[in-house]
Amino acid sequence: MSSENQSIHEIDYGLICEYFSNFERQGPGSPEVTKKALSFIDNLTNDSVIADIGCGTGGQTMVLAQNARGRITGIDLFPKFIELFNANAGKLNLQDRVKGITGSMDKLPFGDEELDLVWSEGAIYNIGFERGLKEWRKFLKKGGYIAVSESSWFTEERPEEINRFWMDAYAEIDTIPRKVDQMQKAGYVPVAAFILPEECWTVNYHEPQASIQEAFLKKYPGNKAAEDLVAFQRHEVQLYDKYKEYYGYVFYIGRKI
Ligand code: SAH
Repeated sequence: MSSENQSIHEIDYGLICEYFSNFERQGPGSPEVTKKALSFIDNLTNDSVIADIGCGTGGQTMVLAQNARGRITGIDLFPKFIELFNANAGKLNLQDRVKGITGSMDKLPFGDEELDLVWSEGAIYNIGFERGLKEWRKFLKKGGYIAVSESSWFTEERPEEINRFWMDAYAEIDTIPRKVDQMQKAGYVPVAAFILPEECWTVNYHEPQASIQEAFLKKYPGNKAAEDLVAFQRHEVQLYDKYKEYYGYVFYIGRKI
């Protein structure tokens, strides 16, 4: 990569981070869905050790903390997200049990068999579903749980436009049975898989972006990177409206054997 490209990349990175800092969550989800996924997990005590990987600003982490026992470490690549995460934990008086740290999901700072639960909403795609399931397994105690949400196809076949979009964005997207099979092959008993309701995308993820997009474009007039970012987000919304019967987010919950 040339240094010119690198600096463009750095600007993009900062803009993406600023854009998504405006939201409680950085991906599709809801408190109800977080609680539903948690309802399949029965091994937690006050001493449990939990990791929320790719935690963003911690929207789902705080819900998790308010509904599960144990201590939670949130990890995200963006320091700004972690700053907001720790401020959010403080506001909710959860700072003794919930701590955010900057780090990467491919170099997690946990010991072998240290964790009772690995949580990750809308983030495992950054490392890839299969790789994440395999690599994170060693950090879990035997009988520990993994709960991750991941984009998935609902049908075996789909229109070319949406297929192409996802092959560019995340070629590892696959059908629910194949994802469940990958979870099994990675060394977990698949405990549950459920589709996130549409509102997790529309009401909770897409709608809050509209007013922020206007403000963002006003703040960065003529900035190509800002315009591209907003254009991409808008395109994503249009595609979802058009093709939502073919894909969505699915929560997968497994227990390490
Ligand atoms: N779990 C949050 C955020 C999902 S967005 C939610 O559901 O709202 C995906 C997150 O993964 C972003 O916060 C992004 O900064 C983070 N991320 C991307 N690559 C990462 C990596 N290599 N290690 C850790 N976090 C990463």
